[in-house]
Amino acid sequence: MFGLPGVAVRHVEHVSSYPRVGAHRPASAARLVHVVTTDPAAAFCPACGLVSSSVRQRRTTSPRDLPYGEQRLAVRWHKVQYACRERRCPRKVFTEQIAELPAGARITGRLRRQVGAAVGDGQAVSVAGAGLMSWPIAHGAFIVHAQALLTEPTAVTVLGTMRPAAAGPAGPAAKRPALG
Ligand SMILES: [Zn+2]
Repeated sequence: MFGLPGVAVRHVEHVSSYPRVGAHRPASAARLVHVVTTDPAAAFCPACGLVSSSVRQRRTTSPRDLPYGEQRLAVRWHKVQYACRERRCPRKVFTEQIAELPAGARITGRLRRQVGAAVGDGQAVSVAGAGLMSWPIAHGAFIVHAQALLTEPTAVTVLGTMRPAAAGPAGPAAKRPALG
């Protein structure tokens, strides 16, 4: 139901007051979704790749995610910090991360993608990101979205024009063995 890959909902808490993004926005009631990591890859040291079961401490973070439903949705991620037991590994400790929330990320990938696409559809940066993220981050999400749109068709066009040119003066027959 929650659908963020790599984590599972532990319980949902209803809070009467939860701070909004930006100090000037008032707090409001919210559903606080407590999630725990389920992706087994999160226990692998990002430096040496060794799996760890040595829990050093538990922490919580509050990444921002897609709005869903009429009442605000806030996420509280309960994550584990592991000690890496590989003696030669320079990374002594590491904290769980998932693809949608790499280390240090405070906004889920799917929220970035949605706001980036909304700006691409013609919404102002300020409208698309209102209450979800700061304007510079919303603008950054749009840049990523736009770059993804720009690079894909370009690659196809290059392939289309390269083929006849490569088969050009020497003729298609001469090129055939090289391609096969
Ligand atoms: Zn390691």
